[in-house]
Amino acid sequence: MKKKLLTLSLSAAIATSGFAFTPVLAAGNGPDVNGNQNVQTSMLTTYEEMADFLQKQAANQEHMELEVIGQSVKGRDLFLAKYITNPDNPTILFLTQQHGNEAMTTEGALDYIRHLGANSKKTQEMLKNVNILIVPMLNVDGAMGDVNFSLDNYMASGRHLTRYNADRIDLNRDHVNKVAPETQALHENVLQKYKIDYMIDFHHQGTQEDYFGKLTTGALLTPQSPGVDPEVQLNSRKLASVLHQGVDSFGWAFILKFDEPTTNAAVASNAMALQYDIPVILFEMRGMADHSYEPYVLGQKSNGYIIKQAFQAMDATANAIADGSIKTVDPGVYDNLPEQHYSY
Ligand SMILES: [Zn+2]
Repeated sequence: MKKKLLTLSLSAAIATSGFAFTPVLAAGNGPDVNGNQNVQTSMLTTYEEMADFLQKQAANQEHMELEVIGQSVKGRDLFLAKYITNPDNPTILFLTQQHGNEAMTTEGALDYIRHLGANSKKTQEMLKNVNILIVPMLNVDGAMGDVNFSLDNYMASGRHLTRYNADRIDLNRDHVNKVAPETQALHENVLQKYKIDYMIDFHHQGTQEDYFGKLTTGALLTPQSPGVDPEVQLNSRKLASVLHQGVDSFGWAFILKFDEPTTNAAVASNAMALQYDIPVILFEMRGMADHSYEPYVLGQKSNGYIIKQAFQAMDATANAIADGSIKTVDPGVYDNLPEQHYSY
């Protein structure tokens, strides 16, 4: 029931964002908080709602299996949604919300799980040729604000969401040491257990990334560590290229290259390439659901587009892997993207 309300409120947000009359801005560029919008987090799916949704979908969807891959610091089950129709198919992993305050990526993943269960011939045909693994909301405690430190200075009203896990570990800096139980679960029960051919790590960036005054709705980055195998690097650039072709073609999206490349081997977009030879990309969406720093927090009016952007990224890449077009895409599509600017 809550999910239905969520869908309605997001449609309303899209309908009222007025993007058709502001052609200068990409439509994901709704207002940031800017001191005059009350940031509500009540429309975001809670952990309990997500768990309930996943169990119901797994019970009703023919091709979906739900696996518990571990528990968070606070004891919440961590989920992996699996679509494996043929073990020989290429497999893509979608990971969302390592950072608990980067929530729209999970909303997009849940929409995509619902979509994969729909009775569409095209979707069912795609699932015969690609295996899809989805880990939604890896940082469940941070997403619920259930942490062992204070969030009193965070901006949102209602439930707070934070980047860190309950023990204040940044999961996306933990892929070498693997101290957090959430990171361990991902490595031991997903990355080391399944043969994964591609991966997208979904995040959110600040609200004011732009390119000569036009705000970006998202940013892409391939592995940056010098030790990455050249073939893995090439296939990462191809993955970024099919994503860009499949999403940026929508009038509301404006996706460039991420402007803070890092060679840190403990970041997922380097770690998975270095440790498992998985072609991987970081995909950053505009704006966070909650933060202590105002310019990072996005007002609700952009949520519908950001969720759709995550959804389309999943669908575009899964389809390109299923039909083999990812093999022949020009990696120059990604290479030639300019870097977005950081203007605040
Ligand atoms: Zn992040």
